[in-house]
Order: sequence, then structure tokens, then C-alpha cells
Amino acid sequence: MYDVIIIGAGPGGLSAGLYAGRMGLDTLIIEKLTPGGQITQSSEIENYPGVCEVKSGLELMQCWPEQTKRFGAKIISEEVVSISRYEIQDDKYGFIIKTPKNEYRSLAVILATGATPKRAGFKGEEEYIGKGVSYCAVCDGYFYKNMDVAVVGGGDSALEEALYLSNIAKKVYLIHRRDEFRAAPATVEKVKNKENIEILYNTTVEEVKGVPFLNTAVINTDGEIKELKVDGIFVFVGMNVNSALVKDLCELNEYNEVKVDLNMKTTLEGLYAIGDVRENSVKQVVASAGDGAVAALNVVKYAKSLKD
Ligand SMILES: Cc1cc2nc3c(=O)[nH]c(=O)nc-3n(C[C@H](O)[C@H](O)[C@H](O)COP(=O)(O)OP(=O)(O)OC[C@H]3O[C@@H](n4cnc5c(N)ncnc54)[C@H](O)[C@@H]3O)c2cc1C
Repeated sequence: MYDVIIIGAGPGGLSAGLYAGRMGLDTLIIEKLTPGGQITQSSEIENYPGVCEVKSGLELMQCWPEQTKRFGAKIISEEVVSISRYEIQDDKYGFIIKTPKNEYRSLAVILATGATPKRAGFKGEEEYIGKGVSYCAVCDGYFYKNMDVAVVGGGDSALEEALYLSNIAKKVYLIHRRDEFRAAPATVEKVKNKENIEILYNTTVEEVKGVPFLNTAVINTDGEIKELKVDGIFVFVGMNVNSALVKDLCELNEYNEVKVDLNMKTTLEGLYAIGDVRENSVKQVVASAGDGAVAALNVVKYAKSLKD
């Protein structure tokens, strides 16, 4: 039995593993893909403190698994399909983590499964991620300084990100499939008053094109097809938080984000949640890594209390 099993090897999970291993916990990290998390999809990251050189997400994450393993954590490649509890003895509970092939047991679990931005569904969307399609204006906006970009979406985050981008880009096309916004009226007003934002109502993106980077969006306005010259498209049509594994174990909020306290504890004893999957996360690498440290150091105390 492990002291702690960490599900997900993004920045949150790897940081939790590093701290847990270094504190002497018998630690297992289970990752369904290659370790590194969603940031490995980003062509450039320049806001991770202490890393002054602009790197790709893949380069930034390259040595994290090795550093984590150096302190004893084991990383395996499997997909977790269920988490359940079992009684170890006398009202002390542990966890059973199942993958399609194996079953693992631990005293505590740290959920670090992150979030996946929802796709808008246009042709070329996946292919151009990191080459013109982005889901994060804070992360990638600066790369489009004085260029023309489009934002897809009609909710608060789409409009807020359009405003943010309008201070960096030359022009922002706000593409919305309906004729009115779901966002707060005050935000809608600000967007309407911003000179370099042009709103395209009743419009959807059909396809993106360009070699090697995106330079054209094919759009459909009430059935009329047009080509829009843009250097980037930012999609904000919502996030899918990867919290399904714990939906019957602890409380989630209305966005399916896991509710946690300041120690990253969920409402179920022994279960912790960190990074993008948790409530109120700012969804940044540095924040997920910080959460990992907080959770692991609290698991040390929790595991000790079970062993005493
Ligand atoms: C294109 C892009 C650009 C970005 N740019 C920046 C930036 O410049 N700066 C910045 O700070 N942030 C940026 N972000 C955001 C940043 O990537 C995330 O905030 C961060 O990766 C979240 O880390 P995490 O560990 O919480 O989750 P994730 O990175 O999402 O990692 C979760 C991991 O869990 C794994 N997993 C999920 N379910 C299971 C399962 N059932 N079993 C096993 N493994 C599972 C996933 O495969 C994944 O590896 C960007 C994001 C994207 C998509």
C-alpha cells in the first residue's frame, strides 16, 4: 500500500509527487498520457517564475518527472478509471484506485487531473493548437502583439479575454454564434465601447487555415461564408474539468470543480484536489505547482495520523 497516490502528472501532480517523496512518503503518480500536462500543448511559456528564457511547454516540463523521481516517487502510465474507499481497520479508511489492468491502494489520494478546454468544433482546431489556436489569453496573448486575432464565445470569459487581448492586439474580432451575449451587461458595454473590438454576431468559425501558422478563419454569418484574415483564434466556450472520478465521493461546485479548503482537502477525509480541477484555481502552471506542495505537505500529517 502506498502512503499517497497522485492522479495526473501535470505541473500539479509532479510538484505534489516531488514534495511527497522528499518528505519520505511512499508515493505513486499515475498518468494516462506522457507526464507534463496540458502546458505541453503550448508552443511558448514565458511566465513561469525563475525560468527567464522563453521555452515551449514541453521543454519547461521536460525535467520535472526526473526531478520528482529523484526523491523516490514512482510514475506509471495508466488511466485511472475509479476511486473507492475501503476500511483499513477501526474506522480508518484508505483508497482503492483502479486502472483497466491493475488495482492500487493508498492512505491518501491527490487528484491532479486538470481541466480540458472545450473545443469550439471547427475544422483544423486540434491541428492548429500552439500554431494559432489558443485557449488561454493570459498565456498566449502577448505573442499576438499588434496583430489581428479572433475570440470565439459569448460568455463572461470570452468577453473579458477579448477586452484583455484588445490591449495587446491591433484588432480583435469577437465571434459569437447568437445575436446577444450571455455575459454580464457591464462587460458587454465595455466590449461594445472598445474601438478595436469588432463584434460578429450570428457567426461561427467553420475552418482555420495557414502554413505553417494559422492566418485565415473561414466564418459563416447567417449562411454567408467569408474568409477573415487573423493571426490567432482564442476559443472560450467553457472548460471541462476532469472531476468525474470523484463526483460521488466529495462535493463539487456548479462548474464541476472540486471544492477544497486552503490545505487542498476536499470534503472527503484523505482526498485532496489541486490545480485546474479544483474550485477557484487561476489555471496557471505556477498555481498548480504551488497547490501540489500544499497538498503533499498536508498529506504528510494525514498519513502520520493514520499510522499512529
Ligand atoms: C495551449 C495552452 C497554453 C497555456 N499557456 C500557459 C502559460 O503560458 N502559462 C501558464 O501558467 N499556464 C498556461 N496554461 C495553463 C496550464 O497549462 C494549466 O494551468 C496547468 O497545466 C494545470 O496543471 P494541472 O497539473 O492542474 O493539470 P494538467 O496540466 O491538466 O494535468 C493533468 C494531468 O492529469 C492527467 N489525467 C487526467 N485524467 C486522468 C486519469 N483518469 N488518469 C490518469 N491521468 C489523468 C492528464 O493526462 C494530465 O497530464 C496553458 C494551457 C494551454 C492548454
